[in-house]
Order: sequence, then structure tokens, then C-alpha cells
Amino acid sequence: MRFSNKNALVTGAAGGIGAAIVRQLRAEGARVAVADRDVSGIEADAQLPGNLLETGYADGLPQAAFDVLGGLDIVVNNAGVITRGKVTETTDADWDLSVDVNVRAPFRISRAAIPLLAARGGGAIVNTASCWGLRPGPNHAVYCMTKAAIASLTQCMGMDHAHQNIRINAVCPNEVNTPMLRTGFIKRGFDPDTAVAELGKTVPLGRIAEPEDIADVVLFLASDAARYMCGALVEVNGGKAVG
Ligand code: NAD
Repeated sequence: MRFSNKNALVTGAAGGIGAAIVRQLRAEGARVAVADRDVSGIEADAQLPGNLLETGYADGLPQAAFDVLGGLDIVVNNAGVITRGKVTETTDADWDLSVDVNVRAPFRISRAAIPLLAARGGGAIVNTASCWGLRPGPNHAVYCMTKAAIASLTQCMGMDHAHQNIRINAVCPNEVNTPMLRTGFIKRGFDPDTAVAELGKTVPLGRIAEPEDIADVVLFLASDAARYMCGALVEVNGGKAVG
């Protein structure tokens, strides 16, 4: 039980990777507050539904989690959206949505969480970036840019807050079998099971990631086993290092 007596906030908790993180944190003893637009179906210790586009909600989430759980030790900024297309196909609305959910919300949540974690003697923040934040892939210009931004912010915050015993790191997955990936296939007219199987053939390990493969690394980064890691961008890619 690595997370006994630990309190955690997880955003994007209703999504594929977020739900796995919540399940695994709770299985290892953590008390977890879940944040997403609809958290009604999620087993958790506290439910904090809301829209991360509302700045007051994002600003207030860490304190709300702290109050309802009786403390806060771990924050997982996992919520995200993907917009597809080259710059010439990207609308202002795509830009605003991508930047606001993928960058501004974790910035606001981290800014509010850091003093709370520091007052308790430290803690951990884990951000979900992407391998596309490290090396861009084609036809997702603004998504890649936002993931590069959160990767950079993770490195900066990891450096700036280490002296407060707050470790801030990011996980950088390649393709993961979640609603985000599957709805993309459906929108493009592909059968998602067939497309996931085909995509798996391009991965040296022979399959794309399941959400639990990513959650395991998030839990490691949140745990004391990662006690000397600050500002790390940890790629989780089955051996497929490029977009
Ligand atoms: P998902 O779509 O299953 O989950 C994302 C969750 O974020 C959803 O539950 C959604 O409701 C929530 N969310 C989005 N906008 C929100 C808003 N405005 N307010 C509140 N909640 C909001 O996707 P996932 O694959 O589980 O993605 C989790 C994270 O992993 C994302 O940051 C994503 O960019 C990243 N990622 C995913 C993949 C992949 O292949 N699936 C690869 C690399 C990185």
C-alpha cells in the first residue's frame, strides 16, 4: 500500500487513462478526489465535477480537494483534448480549447496546489504530456504544441519547486487505447478495434498501450520510489519513439 495516508486529486478522471489512475491509486491506499465534467459513475472518495475551461473551477480545485479529503499530497493533471489538423486547418476555437485544457488548466491547478503541498512539507504533481510533446507528429500542430508547452512547464516547475520538496514530473505516452484515440478513428471512418490492432503492429512491443500501462508509471512518479526525480519527462512508448 504505497499510498496509505495519501490524498490525491486526479483530473480527466472519467477518461481512459484517468480512470485507470484513480483505480490504481485507490487500490494502493490513496484517498482520491476525482475531477471531470461528469464524475457520476466513478468510485472515489470525493467527486469534484466541473469544466476546466471555467477558470474559477480550475483555480479552486486543489483547495476543494484539500478541504474534502482533509489534505492534499498528490495532483495528477491528466485531463486533455486533442484537436487534429495542420495550422492551416486549425480554427481559433481549436486553439483556445487546446491551450485552455492542455496548458492553462494544469498551470492554474499547479499554481494553486503548490502552496498547499509546500505547507504540508512537500508532495508530487504528475502531468500527462505526450511523446508528441517531445517530438511532434504530423497533422496535429496545436495538440503537439500544447504538449510541448506542458512538458516545458513541467521541467520549469520541477526545477523551481524541488527546494520545497515538491516533485513535478510528466508522463509522455505514445498511443494509448482510450476513448480519445478510438473516437478519432471513428471520426475518420475506421473500425476502432481493427485500427488499434493495426497500430499495435507499428510498436516494437507489438501492441499500443492500455491505460493501466500509463497509470503504473504515473503512480511510480507520484510515489516515494521516484524521490530523486524532478522535472523528468518519462516516455512510455513500447519502444516506438517517434510520433
Ligand atoms: P480521454 O478522452 O479518455 O480522457 C480525457 C478526459 O479529460 C475526459 O474524461 C474529458 O472529459 C476530460 N476533459 C477534457 N476537457 C475537459 C474540460 N474542459 N473540463 C474537465 N474535463 C475535461 O483521453 P485519454 O487518452 O485518457 O487522455 C488523458 C491524457 O493523456 C490527455 O492529457 C491526453 O492528451 C494524454 N495522452 C493520450 C494519448 C492517447 O493515445 N490516448 C497519448 C498521449 C497522451
